[in-house]
Amino acid sequence: MVEKITHDVVVIGSGLAGLRAAIEAARVGNSKLSIAVVSKTQAMRSHSVSAEGGTAAVLYPEEGDSIESHIYDTIKGSDFLADQDAVELFVNMCPVEVLLLDHWGMPWSRRPDGKIAQRYFGGMSYPRTCYAEDKVGFFEMSTLYDTCLRFDQIEFYHEYYVTSLLTNDGKFAGVTAVNLSEGDLVAFEAKAGVIATGGAGRLYNLASFGHSSTPDGLYVAFRANIPLKDMEFVQFHPTGLVPSGILITEAARGEGGILRNNKGERFMERYASKSKELAPRDIVSRSIMKEIYEGRGFKDEHGNEYVELDLTVIEPEKVKTRLSGIREICMKFIGKDPVNEPIPIRPIAHYYMGGIDTDIDGATSLPGLWSAGEVACVSINGANRLGSNSTSECLVWGRITGEKAARYALSSSSNSIDKSKVAEEEKRVFDRLLGPRPRTSPYDVKRKVQSIMENHFYVYRDGESMLEGLKKLRDLKNTLELGVEDKSRKYNTNLMNVFEIEAMVHVAETIAISAVNRSESRGAHYRVDYPKRDDVNWLKHTLVYKTVDGPEIGYKNVVITRFQSVERTY
Ligand SMILES: Cc1cc2nc3c(=O)[nH]c(=O)nc-3n(C[C@H](O)[C@H](O)[C@H](O)COP(=O)(O)OP(=O)(O)OC[C@H]3O[C@@H](n4cnc5c(N)ncnc54)[C@H](O)[C@@H]3O)c2cc1C
Repeated sequence: MVEKITHDVVVIGSGLAGLRAAIEAARVGNSKLSIAVVSKTQAMRSHSVSAEGGTAAVLYPEEGDSIESHIYDTIKGSDFLADQDAVELFVNMCPVEVLLLDHWGMPWSRRPDGKIAQRYFGGMSYPRTCYAEDKVGFFEMSTLYDTCLRFDQIEFYHEYYVTSLLTNDGKFAGVTAVNLSEGDLVAFEAKAGVIATGGAGRLYNLASFGHSSTPDGLYVAFRANIPLKDMEFVQFHPTGLVPSGILITEAARGEGGILRNNKGERFMERYASKSKELAPRDIVSRSIMKEIYEGRGFKDEHGNEYVELDLTVIEPEKVKTRLSGIREICMKFIGKDPVNEPIPIRPIAHYYMGGIDTDIDGATSLPGLWSAGEVACVSINGANRLGSNSTSECLVWGRITGEKAARYALSSSSNSIDKSKVAEEEKRVFDRLLGPRPRTSPYDVKRKVQSIMENHFYVYRDGESMLEGLKKLRDLKNTLELGVEDKSRKYNTNLMNVFEIEAMVHVAETIAISAVNRSESRGAHYRVDYPKRDDVNWLKHTLVYKTVDGPEIGYKNVVITRFQSVERTY
């Protein structure tokens, strides 16, 4: 018999978006609602804790920044694919959330006058990225987690892996999850849900994500017939440390770091004469790869190609105090102190602009279910996200969805889960565990997916190569016979990895078909065979739907309120 756990609201994921949603649901529900936070990791091990550079918000309009400027920077950064009503709401809410965190104890770095300090980030025309050294995610997560603990109504379920959404009468009714420490399936019954499971993560091997970042939430939603939006847009962060791919925050360039090729040239002067290293990420990543492809990069003894990020031009004291985290990473992982010598970097997979299709309130197409954070596509990021807008987005839509879910739960009568659906899921999960030995090692499949994505869907794309990549992914999917070698119940990470890797194969396919389908270049999706943006045919969002014959493409209009698209120059 599957154990049933009942709450009013269930939040799936305990990153910045999930924790913020839980707090808001608790605040709105007062003591009338009980809230579960379900996470496959320990809450504080969510990827959000590794956010480095900062959180965007207009704090000091009297000193020259403006809401209008943050709105326009975000829309232009998105290559005009962002929904403008959502961006406007977002930008207006960012300062409220930054100050609320301050109120809850967030140790922001300060200016000499005691106010919250801000720095430059790519594509932002004003230094509006609030920071806490270069460890903003850790401090934000600690602040939100501490705040959660002040509410008796919030209950944490650490290390519960959600395997499916439950519906009843066409509405959200809860989720099934494997309790990883025991190996049992449990059913969470709830009136409302917020899915905040983070980005698709490790679909690429060279990535800034932790190994636990996999597209589970996207797959769980997709299987429940919720469409995914704009999946072709994958952000490559320009500066991943070579060879590990660990992120070197954009703040390193915000504080003055510059990029050089093997001739010692500051090559960004050629590609973005005004913004140079602080052009948006899609542009800087393409520039780096062009330098490498045209022979102006470096090569290490293992054949890894890279360019150099030079922080020796920054005052050493600044590096030591404002970039202490990445300095430590460089010293530990490559034995170089960036105060004294340049460091090797290249673009790495870092963020997914696409995700679960939602409206401006974060509502999904399934009544009773909202989505927030990187897993959701509202969309404020369009074809390219600006650095430091994501942590802000998690806070803003964590708040909005937490409130909406709580109000919905307060006004609806209980929705019970369908026991037969739970039994079906139990069979799907445990037939795997107890079924025949695997023919394919899930880890081989994972390596294959990553290599297909890296070879066919990287910074530069072209039609023929993408079609080949899509075919390889489909062959992999059609012959997928994953199984679990380890038959034990407690902490069976082999079982969990099988779910994660199955999700990787299916979600990679949605990225591939969306990318093949979009015959233009926009933001992070750059096609050498269609190098121009095509607003006449493509100023629209891509949707991917699940059908019995496999994923199918649809479209949704972009909300344009005030800003017409123009050529993007920096
Ligand atoms: C190294 C790095 C540095 C970054 N730096 C910045 C920065 O400085 N500024 C900025 O704005 N953005 C930054 N970003 C991006 C930003 O940090 C993320 O987009 C954001 O933190 C994502 O938060 P989230 O709440 O959506 O999800 P996450 O923090 O990724 O959390 C996902 C949660 O979902 C849970 N989960 C997933 N699948 C399941 C499942 N099947 N069952 C149960 N639970 C599940 C996980 O356990 C986890 O709790 C950075 C990203 C990285 C990788």
